[in-house]
Amino acid sequence: MHEMLNSGGTASAADIPSVDRLLNQPALGALLAQHGRTRVTDALRSHLEELRRSGLAGALDSAALLDGTIASVLQTKFDAAARRRLRPVFNLTGTVLHTNLGRAVLPDEAVGAVVQAMGAPVDLEYDLASGGRGERDTLVEQLLCELTGVEAATVVNNNAAAVLLILSTLAARREVIVSRGELIEIGGSFRIPDIMRQAGAKLVEVGTTNRTHVKDYAEAIGPRSALLMKVHTSNYVISGFTHSVGVAELAELGRSRSVPVAVDLGSGSLVDLTRWNLPKEPTVRETLKDGADLVSFSGDKLLGGPQAGLIVGRADLIAKLKKHPLKRALRVGKLTLAALEPVLALYQAPELLAERLTTLRLLTRAAEAISAQAARLRPVLQQAVGGAYDVSTAPLSSQIGSGALPVDRLPSHGLAVRPVKGRRGGLDRLERALRELPRPVIGRIADKTLWLDLRCLEESEEAAFVAQWSELRP
Ligand SMILES: *Cc1c(COP(=O)(O)O)cnc(C)c1O
Repeated sequence: MHEMLNSGGTASAADIPSVDRLLNQPALGALLAQHGRTRVTDALRSHLEELRRSGLAGALDSAALLDGTIASVLQTKFDAAARRRLRPVFNLTGTVLHTNLGRAVLPDEAVGAVVQAMGAPVDLEYDLASGGRGERDTLVEQLLCELTGVEAATVVNNNAAAVLLILSTLAARREVIVSRGELIEIGGSFRIPDIMRQAGAKLVEVGTTNRTHVKDYAEAIGPRSALLMKVHTSNYVISGFTHSVGVAELAELGRSRSVPVAVDLGSGSLVDLTRWNLPKEPTVRETLKDGADLVSFSGDKLLGGPQAGLIVGRADLIAKLKKHPLKRALRVGKLTLAALEPVLALYQAPELLAERLTTLRLLTRAAEAISAQAARLRPVLQQAVGGAYDVSTAPLSSQIGSGALPVDRLPSHGLAVRPVKGRRGGLDRLERALRELPRPVIGRIADKTLWLDLRCLEESEEAAFVAQWSELRP
């Protein structure tokens, strides 16, 4: 019937073909093979319903009723639905460990290990030496102990989970003493007082916002004290007339009064970053050496690995954590462990770490190299955005991100894009166009300028970055 319709004319609702007839047309064959009869039938029904409505409104083009047109509309719908939601982007925000962009980018060794662990059975909880049941933590426990100098370690889903597990296990229905200067909120509603409540622990605040002394902790210790806790003030600094109690001093007090000391280190580096001229961040090993009984830190911040919460410290305390029912609920999966093991292994050769560990490689990129890259990319971007915008190179300062060293900045370079006065355009529109690229480019708008910090654009990715600008629709 549809052959009689001439394309370009108007059709009526009565001309719409039936689902059954369409399903048997060759034009639909490829769709049926790829998506199956159920899905194609459903999509056809809803598309024909739309056409029917257009027909009743007198706005139906007869060309829309051709088999080929209907098939291609369905194909477009299926393609759009198949587009992944979780997609790679270019992080040109200048924040290396950007929580909203997935924090640490894993090194190749970890990527390979995850791919392997995904497609095959693995010895996750199977001891290959004895043929008996194993424990998943042991896959990384030895490495963690070696790298931090402790007796025992365990791994959970993230550092927030680590803190929750520590408090639930060691301090439920008892008291935890924390300085008022460390009652932090991390982005995404992780607040120390809330997590205490969740764990059933009673928070005992000591000191003041800017000054806490060891005697404040000492006076707060009582029969119900379960834990002295220090929390890394990850995302802010208190400066001026300040005093806080160091781990060593707190640990001495804890030992003399038999109250264990737990430190939430936040980012927690396994190596001294000053070795690469980066700002000083307390290392896990130092914190333990100072006497902390337990230290927890994130896997995907400065460590440069997958999302995880690592807890290291005294064997008797770690054993308790492992036995708590929450540990089962918060445990990590095989993909996390697959990624974590090779990342930790990289730390066994610290002098090669800045080359091999992606996070550290990005943090230590020389400003001159980034500047040269900005000079190379400026004309590419200028051509892509056209005459309505002016692109120039600019010195910038990147930050580590994820609460590590909140005020320290790393000298960087990048591109500054500004609308040319009197020309059509607009920064918001351009920023949206960048987000609509096949691999979205994420920058930062400030002072009527779109800033693209190139620190996180590794030279190995430059070709892919350049290649997609032809698709920009500014
Ligand atoms: C980031 C951070 C957390 C939360 O760690 P996640 O791994 O994101 O759960 C907890 N405490 C401190 C001090 C942090 O910096």
